[in-house]
Amino acid sequence: MRRLPRVLISFLFFIVPVLFTSCQKPYEFDLPDFPGSRWYKGNTHTHTFFSDGDSSPEQVTKWYKDHGYQFLVISDHNLLTVSEKADQLTDSTFILITGDELTINFEKHPVHINALNISKELKPLTDTTLVGTIQKNVDLVNQSGGLAHVNHPNFRWALNYEALSKTNNYKLLEIYSGHPIVNDFGGGGYPSVEQMWDMLLSDGKRIYGMAVDDAHQFKGEFAPHRVNPGRGWVMVRAASLNGDNIVKSLDAGAFYSSTGVVLDDIIIDAKQIKIKIHQHSDFKYRTEFIGDGGQVLAESEEINPVYTLNKAQKYVRAKVYDSMGAVAWVQPVFIKKELNQ
Ligand SMILES: [Zn+2]
Ligand SMILES: [Zn+2]
Repeated sequence: MRRLPRVLISFLFFIVPVLFTSCQKPYEFDLPDFPGSRWYKGNTHTHTFFSDGDSSPEQVTKWYKDHGYQFLVISDHNLLTVSEKADQLTDSTFILITGDELTINFEKHPVHINALNISKELKPLTDTTLVGTIQKNVDLVNQSGGLAHVNHPNFRWALNYEALSKTNNYKLLEIYSGHPIVNDFGGGGYPSVEQMWDMLLSDGKRIYGMAVDDAHQFKGEFAPHRVNPGRGWVMVRAASLNGDNIVKSLDAGAFYSSTGVVLDDIIIDAKQIKIKIHQHSDFKYRTEFIGDGGQVLAESEEINPVYTLNKAQKYVRAKVYDSMGAVAWVQPVFIKKELNQ
């Protein structure tokens, strides 16, 4: 048999596979990098009696450590709470990440911005407009090296979609809060916070949704009307359990938010979003895959739902419901560019 010319060999072995691969990937996605193989459970919004909570930092810390969390941010109003007794509860299985809830009013609008993983206390800034007030405080957190999340937009109907769409350089938005008077679900002409999230994502903003407790009350009766812990949290995939890694993963969208649904894995590649739901008891599950404008693109009743990505949407995110009403929110996948057009 005659030997193939070198040029033809290199074409067959190198160029053809490259061409084939690029045909397979007609779109580019911004895929979250999920470092490591462990999920860490945490709450990024909680108060102690150093601001308006009812318990000491160590009592609050102990509650989270005893209830299966791996990290906690104590976010007292305009205060960087430090407690030696709380620090003594930290170890290789549980850490505290520093925080501060920047708390200020613009006219009657409460503007609350959480600062995560900060090295010094931050005091909120004022401005002559609502957007300016939100922006200045987000910028302050960013400039200090911390990570900002915008809190409970519908609390006193303070931060509407217009204001949030004009504010830049924030990546995290509370889409679920355990606080009983923050109006997450909207109504009376006001969109829910989750609807606002979809509106912002549809505009092309890259924002990840956070579930938090905003807990204030650790004593006495635990009841829906009280401001108790254990209602909303994040599951963060990080290389290891330390503040820098956790915050880096939050910033990259390598996490999901939950009010009870546990996911064993989220696998995202250039073709598909694959979710592996953790089966609890005999619960049943339903997953919605959601795209531009909040429209439901597909539904699945499977324990391992899969969605095949395509060019039609700016983003696709998933929401998993269990048969008791708990939810997990999978962060959006952003479709960066259509290479074929
Ligand atoms: Zn607040
Ligand atoms: Zn708060």
